[in-house]
Amino acid sequence: MGSAALTGVMIGGAGHSGSTLLGMILSGLEGAVYIGEGAKVRYLGDMSKPLVKRACKICGDDCAFWSGFRWDPSHGLYEQIAAHSGARILVDSSKKPDWIAARAEELRSGGHEARLIILTRDGRAVVNSRLRKYPGREPAGQIAEWMEQIEAAHALAGVFPGAVLHLAYETLATAPEQTARRLADFVGAHYDPSMLAFSRREHHPLGGNNGTQFIATRGRPGSAGLEPGARSAAYYRAHPDEIRLDLRWKDEFAPEHAALFEDMAGALNQSMKWGQ
Ligand SMILES: [Zn+2]
Repeated sequence: MGSAALTGVMIGGAGHSGSTLLGMILSGLEGAVYIGEGAKVRYLGDMSKPLVKRACKICGDDCAFWSGFRWDPSHGLYEQIAAHSGARILVDSSKKPDWIAARAEELRSGGHEARLIILTRDGRAVVNSRLRKYPGREPAGQIAEWMEQIEAAHALAGVFPGAVLHLAYETLATAPEQTARRLADFVGAHYDPSMLAFSRREHHPLGGNNGTQFIATRGRPGSAGLEPGARSAAYYRAHPDEIRLDLRWKDEFAPEHAALFEDMAGALNQSMKWGQ
């Protein structure tokens, strides 16, 4: 499109690993916008899709940021969002490898920069989050899905046409400033302390975690509709306005699920294991 180069920052890994938090932190870089799970841009304004898929999670259908935006898939998505918003750094937490590979190819062919952050989290915490949110699902299926997503993320990192950063959610949550500095370096931008004060900025994410979005927007006009899931409501309502390591799994993960996890995924989780 002949304009100055953009940087697309894509978050890969498994869902329920803190990508909403990471995206909101990255949105504090100058010229950056966190679009949420960019793959949902395909559903923008499609009234046959549920609200959480077709619109900004904070504003709903009536969102000033996404107003008037429709992706023309014959051109690069991030170029179009940059033209629409004026942003130079586009942060996308879609996580799906083929989506990321397609956006990376658009960036490359447009002369732009592509960055991939593989965000990991102790698999026991991830599986516990999913079982909390979807109590009817089979634990073995949830464990197998997490394993597949981790393996697919590693495969993507091996072929990604740009720089790749491996980051643990637990590192982000326990050393946020140090991690934010590392992230700024990685993206090629200046560290800004406001990266960590993400609840003081507006956000217009597509998809993403209700609890983190609740913390980031509570008390703001227009965000009254956003609620954490029923089983997480007490946790998020009591959550201070700061970045905190979420270790709820340690109290919640049933011993039989922990044993099953160890059996199926203990070896894969070894390098991601946090604490006991
Ligand atoms: Zn919005």
